[in-house]
Amino acid sequence: MLISLELKRVDSMAVKKLFGTSGIRGKINSEVTCELALNVGKSLACYLGNEGTVVLGYDTRTTNVMLDQAICAGLLESGVDVIKIGMVPTPLVGYATDKLGADAGVMLTASHNPSQYNGIKIWNANGMAYTSAQEAKIEEIYSNESYTSVSWDKVGSLRVNEEIKGRYIDDLVGMVNIKPGLKVVIDCASGAGSEISPLVFRKAGCEVTTLNSQPDGFFPGRNPEPNAENLQNLMKTVVAIGADLGIAHDGDADRMITIDENGDISPFDSLLALMSKEFDGDIVTTVDAGLCMDESVKGNVLRTKVGDVNVAEVIIEKDAAFGGEPSGTWLHPDFCMCPDGILSGLRMAELVSNKGKLSELLLEIPSYPNIREKIICSKEAKTAIMENMEDLLKDSFDDIKEINSIDGVRLTFNDDSWVLVRPSGTEDYIRITLESKDSTKAQAIKETCVKIIKENI
Ligand code: MG
Repeated sequence: MLISLELKRVDSMAVKKLFGTSGIRGKINSEVTCELALNVGKSLACYLGNEGTVVLGYDTRTTNVMLDQAICAGLLESGVDVIKIGMVPTPLVGYATDKLGADAGVMLTASHNPSQYNGIKIWNANGMAYTSAQEAKIEEIYSNESYTSVSWDKVGSLRVNEEIKGRYIDDLVGMVNIKPGLKVVIDCASGAGSEISPLVFRKAGCEVTTLNSQPDGFFPGRNPEPNAENLQNLMKTVVAIGADLGIAHDGDADRMITIDENGDISPFDSLLALMSKEFDGDIVTTVDAGLCMDESVKGNVLRTKVGDVNVAEVIIEKDAAFGGEPSGTWLHPDFCMCPDGILSGLRMAELVSNKGKLSELLLEIPSYPNIREKIICSKEAKTAIMENMEDLLKDSFDDIKEINSIDGVRLTFNDDSWVLVRPSGTEDYIRITLESKDSTKAQAIKETCVKIIKENI
């Protein structure tokens, strides 16, 4: 008879917060360690009932090998089989979890963060990210160390799957119809899209030029955050070679942003609206998305909390056609419930191929004066001030049409101007985001909100 030597704590310790807005993320060897990965592996296995299968992938970071070994050991020790799919874009982990019939997926990535960061994100059997409720369960098991090992003959088995990459590539190509010869420049930041993204576009008939598409965890070409500052080379290259389109991924390729044929970076909200217009049915987005969404979409625009998993949940609940965040994180429910920056880019290429120049397509999307402001505010003060924010705002404006308090407080005014006051999920700020067709009114709304926040901090 086997005797478990593991000591289980019966008392419930304070639950340690591990997960942020997009999985576990932090500086390597201080916040994110092998010990953490090992114990998250054990905790996930415990959550899955010490059985089943987990798909495991990672981005190009130099610290992935050790985290991959550690989390894999934790899963195997606790009775869960592991299918390793190696260095892949995040959306391939979601896709593989779904297609291989696994019970969960794990992606080791810190997305757009610099090289010294890494993280862990967990996926459901249907390819959708773990919800905050599921993450809370993992945190509870982790904090209480209530995970268990299994007996020697129940330890999980390890497989490597090379085949799923090819299936993913073929399935993606099958999603679009692009006229041969479209000139596209793809910038992968030397991140997880480097091998697969250019290949997919070539197979789809595009003439591809690549930038930063050699996998390298030091991100030597550019920072993995796809913004105007980091994409100067891509902008210049698109113009220099007369390309139709530029596409830039973040570090794990669940996001993308486009550069038009003139070398200009596309406004994030407008780009999301432009793609949303292509779908029949309802569209899900987040509370920080602009008015252009409402004015472009055929069906209803449903706004939820910031975070791709929140968008995914509403897509499933309301059977919506498409969804996305203004950050360039788009969900394609006709493909997989994991945000996919490669499919987002492919669909943009298809649009340009069939409908013409991107700069002209974007001109059809209405654009209004918008303001983004952030006010420094400690974590404690943020919680206190947000408790009264709805009342404070109601007392200060008299033409409110609608109040949405699903994530921060979002007011819509009678003339469709709107403002969102929301505490940052990761930094010590309260953010004000607003938009109005009248720039004087936009300024006035901003000043009122700043005054309310400063007076109440
Ligand atoms: Mg990402």
